[in-house]
Amino acid sequence: MAERMTEVGRNVRQQAFEALLAEARVIHERSPELRKFADWPCDLRYVDLEPAYVPAVRQLSLWSPVCSFHAAIQAVAPYGDWKRTYGEEEVGYGFLQDYGYIELFGPTGHFHSRTARAYIAYWGRGLYYPSHRHEAEELYFVISGSGTFEAEGLDTVRLGPGQTRLHSPNQSHAMTFKDSPILTYILWRGEGIDGIPVMDKSRS
Ligand code: ZN
Repeated sequence: MAERMTEVGRNVRQQAFEALLAEARVIHERSPELRKFADWPCDLRYVDLEPAYVPAVRQLSLWSPVCSFHAAIQAVAPYGDWKRTYGEEEVGYGFLQDYGYIELFGPTGHFHSRTARAYIAYWGRGLYYPSHRHEAEELYFVISGSGTFEAEGLDTVRLGPGQTRLHSPNQSHAMTFKDSPILTYILWRGEGIDGIPVMDKSRS
């Protein structure tokens, strides 16, 4: 019986992730910026990852969904392998209580891919994400909410749903989420795709 329950649980999880992947694909194929940045990967294979909870899941679950992509993220949130790259000494206690991301597809994602990497990331209202950088090239797509995006050599912009921001390899960038929380779909490509972001100590 217990085994059967586990099997049912796994199917429910997989269905929720398949539904989220379908939503991501629709957005990906509709957005010229996303399409230009990366082809939709053709090597995706579902991986039944062990869920890992972060406190942000609670806040995310209380946010009324504004689109079907947002709702699909909420549906997988309890099963997500949620991660936080930073420690308290880097971003503070409050940041860690209201931030988290999952790897939708990629080398260690909910769907395995060797050719691409995509994240779904959430930050709560009132957070400042200090300057950081990474080797991989990155494209942010705002699903819900808004944020102010700063980057070395670029104008500071406030982005809302459907808008994108490109970060070059090792370009320092920072974000402020003043007016609302934010949900984003993030693509990585190129050298450093297996890496993680690091805080830009020299500018802090
Ligand atoms: Zn980045």
